[in-house]
Amino acid sequence: MNRTKRMLLENIAWAAESAQSDPRFFDGLAVGQSPKALWLGCSDSRVPAEIVTNCAPGDLFVHRNIANLFSSTDDNVMSVLEYAVQVLKVHDIIVCGHYGCGGVKAALLPIPSDLPHVARRIAPLCALAGAHSAELDQCRSGDEQVNRLAELNVMAQVRAIRATSIVRDAAHSPSVHGWIFGLHDGRIKVLMAGDLHSRHNESTRRAVPVREYLHTAETMAR
Ligand SMILES: [Zn+2]
Repeated sequence: MNRTKRMLLENIAWAAESAQSDPRFFDGLAVGQSPKALWLGCSDSRVPAEIVTNCAPGDLFVHRNIANLFSSTDDNVMSVLEYAVQVLKVHDIIVCGHYGCGGVKAALLPIPSDLPHVARRIAPLCALAGAHSAELDQCRSGDEQVNRLAELNVMAQVRAIRATSIVRDAAHSPSVHGWIFGLHDGRIKVLMAGDLHSRHNESTRRAVPVREYLHTAETMAR
């Protein structure tokens, strides 16, 4: 059986199982969406937003591209941000990168002349790498360089999103979080928390395990 036939059969099975476990599930989806979070992630097939966060259909409004890049001159991502904030009124925006990101790695290699679209997309990453060359040069290996640049990239995208008028001027500004996913263990680390403590850990090297972040957030919410 070829791949796409298999996918269609899996869809039939998923739809039947979903309806069986919750007979009103699809009625709920058909009514409309009210996701509470916007996810900006990498297109990498190993970091599917809903699966790694145990979310269900309807939970996340998702935009993914190579190396989870945000640009205010990109109508694609800007339209997603605009709709998420102004229409869906999401509470949280999550930029989630991942260690071992191929797009980030490409920014540290010679520009791929045979992939002009990719090269244009990752140009800001090349500039980011240049701006942090002193720190990146101190990394002990190429993998460590890629991973540190992946972290710096997430934080740069968070700052860029926070700086948009869409977020700044929103009646209820969403919290913008910076996360990074580990392919080696499937765990997410918090690089930049949302508004609760938006400056916390921003400049530190160490990422915060989600469990620690949640504990801190719960404490602050009391
Ligand atoms: Zn990636």
